[in-house]
Amino acid sequence: MKDRFSFYILGSSGGKAKRRFSMCFYLPNNTLIDAGNIFALEKSELILIKNIVLTHSHFDHICDVPFLVDYTINEREEPIKIYGLPETLEALKKNIFNETIWPAFDKIKLSKSGKSTMEYLEIFPYKEFYLEGYKIFPISSNHTVPTISLVVKRGERGFAYTSDTFKNPIFWDFVKKDNQIKTVFVDISFPSSKEEIANVSLHNTVRTLLEDISNLERKNLRIYAVHLKPTYEKEIIQEIDGLRKEGVRIRPLVGKKRFSL
Ligand SMILES: [Zn+2]
Ligand SMILES: [Zn+2]
Repeated sequence: MKDRFSFYILGSSGGKAKRRFSMCFYLPNNTLIDAGNIFALEKSELILIKNIVLTHSHFDHICDVPFLVDYTINEREEPIKIYGLPETLEALKKNIFNETIWPAFDKIKLSKSGKSTMEYLEIFPYKEFYLEGYKIFPISSNHTVPTISLVVKRGERGFAYTSDTFKNPIFWDFVKKDNQIKTVFVDISFPSSKEEIANVSLHNTVRTLLEDISNLERKNLRIYAVHLKPTYEKEIIQEIDGLRKEGVRIRPLVGKKRFSL
């Protein structure tokens, strides 16, 4: 099939552990969504990265941004553009690139071009924007800090990523009515037995996701469970595998994977 939309997941866990990396999507050749495992890429690829879309300010989603800026500063001619909600960008400026934890790289110029090393660009829920041929549509998520889910398309095909979220029927309404969304990556951080922690930290368990998708009625849709907390990974996967008897197919994803839609 021509014009397939290929992308990579470089990290799919809700934390870090041996061979487990936090959330990071790579849309070749220069765009990332979340920054949990950027260094799965080669240096030649890292130099080309122009855009990083951050879904929220939590550390597992932003952790590699400071190292990427630092590592590629000498070779880079264009700024690294950081896209996020105003609250996300403010949190980065105030708490990471604050001259205490890390330099304020937006004030530092690139030696090759004199342009800023880093730029902050605000995005907003329900205002789609375009990056390098990718159409990106943010949807408000249901999490402890302002967070966006994303629908990402190239041409007529795309995927949706909940980022971190508890139950969020609005997101699933968009998935239900949009047949161009072929694959969904959904937060299942905890097994259903850990519902109390999930309720407080606003993440899905297997059960809360099932409630959200009970009326989904979408054919040709693949649902991948991501953001599994490494501590609970085995228990979540067992629980998801048990659902197949009931005819519910959710694919747990850990580690890296290439997708072609
Ligand atoms: Zn997270
Ligand atoms: Zn989070």
